[in-house]
Amino acid sequence: HAKQKGKRRFMFYNNSMEALVKSNLSVELELNKALKNGELVLFYQPIVDLTTSKPIGFEALIRWQHPEKGLIFPDAFIPVAEQSNLITEIGYWVLEAACKALPNFPPHIHISINVSARQFMDPQLATRMKQIIYQYHATPNRITLEITETLLIENIEQVVSSLKNLRDFGLGISVDDFGTGHSSLSKLKVMPISTLKVDRAFIMDLPDNKEDKELTEAILVMAQKLQLKVVAEGVETAEQRDFLVANQCNFGQGYYFSKPVPLDHALAYTERILIKK
Ligand code: C2E
Ligand code: MG
Ligand code: MG
Ligand code: MG
Repeated sequence: HAKQKGKRRFMFYNNSMEALVKSNLSVELELNKALKNGELVLFYQPIVDLTTSKPIGFEALIRWQHPEKGLIFPDAFIPVAEQSNLITEIGYWVLEAACKALPNFPPHIHISINVSARQFMDPQLATRMKQIIYQYHATPNRITLEITETLLIENIEQVVSSLKNLRDFGLGISVDDFGTGHSSLSKLKVMPISTLKVDRAFIMDLPDNKEDKELTEAILVMAQKLQLKVVAEGVETAEQRDFLVANQCNFGQGYYFSKPVPLDHALAYTERILIKK
């Protein structure tokens, strides 16, 4: 492991020492330390049944609790981690943290985690994920992996076989930010996918924007034909919720229901909502 890191540093040294490379390298080194020092945390955002507003699951979203800089959001460090194998280590940490959190939630609640495309380059991905799930006695069908459309375009045999392997093991597979990439409909049919998460960009201007309305309706009809579940991302208003319910979109996620919150808040929220009849 140390040897691998040394090699990478050497490689950077031989490259032109651009400011960007240097700053990314320092973020990478700091992030590596953060992973070891327990500075990474998961926040949880409910995924709700739109007709009842009750949670059916939570998406785990990573944050970096930096000792000096405070809470750092994933957009500021995940892209850097994705440039190296650090993203793979972070990915296993996320799965582990989610497995540890799982028993605190009622048994019908699942947890979704985000998996970077680069993690699928690890030929051990399926094996290691299963090991972690066994280790924490987690129920596979209470865990969903969120992947992006790019993974579906690059029809790499290894990716497809890892996905099928994990699906057969019981994990749910969601396509995140659906509609922003270029996945073809034929891919959606043959890939081992259970859910589409419609990107916030389509939901934002509902129900007033005619184009977004038509696109969302079309996605919902298509998903129903392909027997895929749909989660609408970024639901912020009652009007958006009402439009989605009227168009048979069963699940949603967004600030209208809750922002991503620390685990104890998510558990309190679950208890509060589920007890309320
Ligand atoms: P994502 O997976 O599409 O997650 C949804 C993002 O939208 C989250 O941002 C969430 O806080 C935000 N969001 C949710 N509801 C609303 C809403 O109603 N309005 C608005 N404006 N935003 C909303 P966040 O937590 O900053 O995460 C950003 C992205 O970082 C994620 O997008 C995901 O791609 C990536 N990410 C987060 N956690 C992880 C992780 O553990 N591993 C990896 N590889 N990527 C992660
Ligand atoms: Mg996601
Ligand atoms: Mg998303
Ligand atoms: Mg997104």
